[in-house]
Amino acid sequence: MTETEVLREWDRRYFWHPFTQMQCYGDDDPWIIDRAEGNYVYDTQGHRCLDAIASLWCNVHGHRHPRLDAALIGQLGKVAHSTALGAGNAPAIRLAKALVEITPPSLQHCFFSEDGAEAVEVAIKMAAQYWCNLGRPEKRLFLTLDNAYHGDTVGAVSVGGFPLFHEVYGHLLFPTLRLPSPYVLQWEDCEGDPEQATAVWLAVLETTLQKQSGEIAAVILEGGVQGAAGILPFPPGILAGAQHLCRAYEVLLIIDEVATGFGRSGKLFSCEWESVEPDLLALGKGLSGGYLPVAATLAAEHVYAAFLAPFGETRQFYYGHTYTANPLACAVALENLALFAEGGVLAALPEKIARLRAGLQRFHGQSWAGEVRQFGLMAAIALRDPGTNAPYPYGDRVEYAVCRRAREMGVYSRPLGDLLTIVPPLSVTAAEIDTILNVLYDAMAEGRS
Ligand SMILES: *Cc1c(COP(=O)(O)O)cnc(C)c1O
Repeated sequence: MTETEVLREWDRRYFWHPFTQMQCYGDDDPWIIDRAEGNYVYDTQGHRCLDAIASLWCNVHGHRHPRLDAALIGQLGKVAHSTALGAGNAPAIRLAKALVEITPPSLQHCFFSEDGAEAVEVAIKMAAQYWCNLGRPEKRLFLTLDNAYHGDTVGAVSVGGFPLFHEVYGHLLFPTLRLPSPYVLQWEDCEGDPEQATAVWLAVLETTLQKQSGEIAAVILEGGVQGAAGILPFPPGILAGAQHLCRAYEVLLIIDEVATGFGRSGKLFSCEWESVEPDLLALGKGLSGGYLPVAATLAAEHVYAAFLAPFGETRQFYYGHTYTANPLACAVALENLALFAEGGVLAALPEKIARLRAGLQRFHGQSWAGEVRQFGLMAAIALRDPGTNAPYPYGDRVEYAVCRRAREMGVYSRPLGDLLTIVPPLSVTAAEIDTILNVLYDAMAEGRS
């Protein structure tokens, strides 16, 4: 057996993969990544693919960036890990300061964790304890959206809006209040009119707050797009309007920018488009440039202040993981921010986003394509059965076959339900955007054959 064959055998037998039906995993030979360079990954047989999913939306400047590699190696020469419970470390201290400086002005303190879901869990617990600390424990409900995705831990699933997850894990979840998805409202009830959709959605929010703000701890929203639900952008004005109403009705606003943060929207943070200043902000994915698991929850001054008290009053925040504020991850994240601070990465985005928009036009109206959606440097194209003009039956797994063909043609994409997604590193070039679109076009046009 070759080494690849051995690894495939062990992969099938021992490695239980996330979100994967393991009974089918071995049907195609498992794909095993060996190394990567810039915007490309290489498998164990040396086949090269353009990384069109940015390692699941987290890679920013490409793989093996010399500056990020050097930052990691530099920190390895000092200390790999040291607990944040009761002690600091230089990269984490510097990173906390840098994040406070670059995030919206309301945010003044930074709490670290490891993954996006945890950054959300932290925000949920902070919001809950905030109201307890202020003597208003009856404010304990979270207001969330249909189709929301905030991660896979139990608290994050509770504030999520995926019916499947709620069916399976419903008995574990805490109850929430739920509003319609702004995108669905826009296209199903408002004939696509963005202004009308925003007005209707904000009116529903206000009615809910009028009735129940006395029981509501926080509203939680993704940063301008419901990403995991299939790249469903909000019409303009949702985030700013939600902030206005949250302030008026004394409810905290949590924005989850785990997917949209670090340039994905075209600005460093998606909040900047509408000058939104949330009370709590969750960051993850791109924070370390796609290198190591580190996440952060940024908090406003008044949130932080509610946790301050003389020792013994048990007002402190009860939360922390073993690897919180890991120095290696923080050192890489700091260098990631340094690369952004030089300006070139964000300045190059408008052209790339426009290139993606122009290139997506070709997919409109094709018999094998449904809706095409874009938010900044992320896009989704729905796959349709030309025979029925509907999605292929779930079990047919046609989108997996299309992605496999695309991979053979040198582009690494991944289906999201019946969608093909394009979420490349921000370092993708215009020519590489064209390549991704050309390959997906050919792979999709071939259909199920
Ligand atoms: C990916 C994602 C999460 C979860 O992040 P993990 O690092 O996978 O736990 C949370 N919120 C949003 C909006 C995401 O896209």
